[in-house]
Amino acid sequence: MMIGVLALQGSVSEHRASMKRLNMNVVDVREPPDMEGLKGLIMPGGESTTLRKLLVNSGLWDTIAKSNVPIMATCAGAILMGKSDDTSFEKMDFKIARNYYGRQKDSFEKNINLGNGRTFKGVFIRAPAIISTGGKTRTIAWDGETVVGCMMDKHMALTFHPELTDDLTFHKMWIEGLK
Ligand code: GLN
Repeated sequence: MMIGVLALQGSVSEHRASMKRLNMNVVDVREPPDMEGLKGLIMPGGESTTLRKLLVNSGLWDTIAKSNVPIMATCAGAILMGKSDDTSFEKMDFKIARNYYGRQKDSFEKNINLGNGRTFKGVFIRAPAIISTGGKTRTIAWDGETVVGCMMDKHMALTFHPELTDDLTFHKMWIEGLK
């Protein structure tokens, strides 16, 4: 299965390594032709305003907006999947608030809850938070009451960075949904 990793900014190599550990074929996506034949696309975090500009300048904004390829989006990527104050792909039905945790606590690690007593080491970097979900969106991860992960159809949005841990739980969950 061929998976693309959007390679415009952020933790591209870490997502690529996670996919390779799951025996996926991986390509870097930098321009529209790179999207051909993909079974899934990862949108890494970084900074959503910059990411948006890079997507528009590369021509990938329109290609991704029109494409039905399933997306796994982390952090800034997740901001582009839901509704916020800025322009987004709005492929998933949730509202997201940028820089939710503010300056004092801008980066931290914390065990998050996956339900059924399972936990995961959440790495949060100037993270947003999912403030409401609707429609077909299912919540899959929580930090207390705060939703930090959700899925809709074959898309996944996470406010933290699973690629910065060795734990493949979320990458695997997304891949399983593509089969
Ligand atoms: N705070 C960033 C933004 O608003 C996201 C941070 C990240 O992706 N780690 O885009």
